[in-house]
Amino acid sequence: MTSSTVHRLVQVADYERYVGAETVERILRKARPLQDLRVAHVNSTYYGGGVAELLSPLTLLMNSVGLVTEWRAIQGPPDFFNITKKMHNALQGACIDLTPRKRRIYEEVVYENAVRNRLDHDRVVIHDPQPLPIVHHSRKRGPWVWRCHVDMTRPDPALWSYLKSFLGAYDAAVLSIPEYEQDLPIPQRFFLPAIDPFSIKNRELTDKEIDERLAYHCIPTDLPLVVQVSRFDRWKDPEGVVAAYKLAREQVPCTLVLLGNMAADDPEGQEVYGHLHRHRSDRILLLSREDTALVNALQRRAAVVVQKSLREGFGLTVTEAMWKGTPVIGGNVGGIRHQLQDGHNGFLVDSVEQCAARIVQLLRDPALRDRMGQRARETVRERFLLTRYLEQYLDLFNGFEARFHLRPTAASPR
Ligand code: UDP
Repeated sequence: MTSSTVHRLVQVADYERYVGAETVERILRKARPLQDLRVAHVNSTYYGGGVAELLSPLTLLMNSVGLVTEWRAIQGPPDFFNITKKMHNALQGACIDLTPRKRRIYEEVVYENAVRNRLDHDRVVIHDPQPLPIVHHSRKRGPWVWRCHVDMTRPDPALWSYLKSFLGAYDAAVLSIPEYEQDLPIPQRFFLPAIDPFSIKNRELTDKEIDERLAYHCIPTDLPLVVQVSRFDRWKDPEGVVAAYKLAREQVPCTLVLLGNMAADDPEGQEVYGHLHRHRSDRILLLSREDTALVNALQRRAAVVVQKSLREGFGLTVTEAMWKGTPVIGGNVGGIRHQLQDGHNGFLVDSVEQCAARIVQLLRDPALRDRMGQRARETVRERFLLTRYLEQYLDLFNGFEARFHLRPTAASPR
């Protein structure tokens, strides 16, 4: 690389072909009062999982419209991430024994991160429970927002009451869908996540590029592919996907590919991955590869993408596959219900048997696959591209008055 190399960020104007000139102009107008505003996003990993996936393009797009936006990830020992993963699971409905020892480790590590990270920005957005208490150790110079990405349908009451005790110091909370609304002393907003159509994972690929990617990883394409791309996590129900595939396979020949990765802040991935090994065969492929273009190629080539989650705040993988015009079968839970309209742009399922039946139906009916796929792509174009998400943040940031009070919502894109 030479010093004369010209780097160019994706600009909001690049989205014009998908969202139209009017939307682009509106976003730029909303960004004008926020020029040079210093913004920090804080989460717990730079890699793996939907939050990192979102922050990566979002922080760049915010910079491209003039907000000086940084991204920090907190660090900690394995003990810390074991505890925060348990918290994550308990927010989604599992049990946790919240001992004083766990609380002490959690709060101490967050304090250490507060010392390492000076968060004196004009707007601070804290993502998920891992860094939540950091607000107590920072000097607030502007409003702080807690952005919760998890499925909050049934949080463990004891844990939630403990975490809520930190929320009084925030100025707003953002959850993914209105069904997750909580009894909180601060205003709440609801932002469905979105995808970056220009990333390696989502950009157009030629058939040749897809063939090459799949051949490189020795993925057979002689039979239709049924694919799930997910962190190895119980909530993603990979066992249920294998069971559904085995039932479907009795009626229609096909190959199953489970592609997964492990997030740096998720200590359970190895175990879930190890457990799945017993299902491996020449028609059940279990892959753990760090290859974003492979995700793209698989989501494009799949006859059916499955995301059979048992809990899901919002499934980016669902939207990614929909953008590629591939029909998706999703678990009838959480954010997926807002992404898929059952029978229109995909299918929602409540059981292994239903999932198997929908796989068979889609594999037998190419015209249905095309129709659903086209509607799915249109849904994403209208509702799930990153410009909509950016605009919601701009509305939120513009909505704070003196003393960080958030005005009631003006119309915001949905
Ligand atoms: N992902 C990936 N490689 C994998 C598995 C997942 O790149 O092997 C990506 C996936 O494409 C998506 C993100 O990780 O962008 C997962 O986000 P999602 O919201 O679906 O689930 P989360 O992991 O946040 O629960």
